[in-house]
Amino acid sequence: MADPNRRIGTLRCRDLMPHLGGYVDHEISAELREAIDAHLEGCPECADFGSEYARLVDTLRSLSIPEDGDDSVEARLLGRLGRLWSASDRPPGDDSTGA
Ligand SMILES: [Zn+2]
Repeated sequence: MADPNRRIGTLRCRDLMPHLGGYVDHEISAELREAIDAHLEGCPECADFGSEYARLVDTLRSLSIPEDGDDSVEARLLGRLGRLWSASDRPPGDDSTGA
């Protein structure tokens, strides 16, 4: 996976992710949308990821999976991706929190 801390325009790759849902749903401000568009133009990895994500959301919706408040399919998907990305920030073997 690409470096999530890579910055293109005003956004880092990892800054993009929490907004992808809103981006796909047109629920974000025009400014944020512009910033994301600028990032996507300069970052093929995020452009790829974004179109994959949009397609996935479409597919999930077409399957009519019931969404349950905050715990929507998208939210769970993003949460999982977020953990994946933040995990790449940690040094290897540092994922045990003393269980
Ligand atoms: Zn990017």
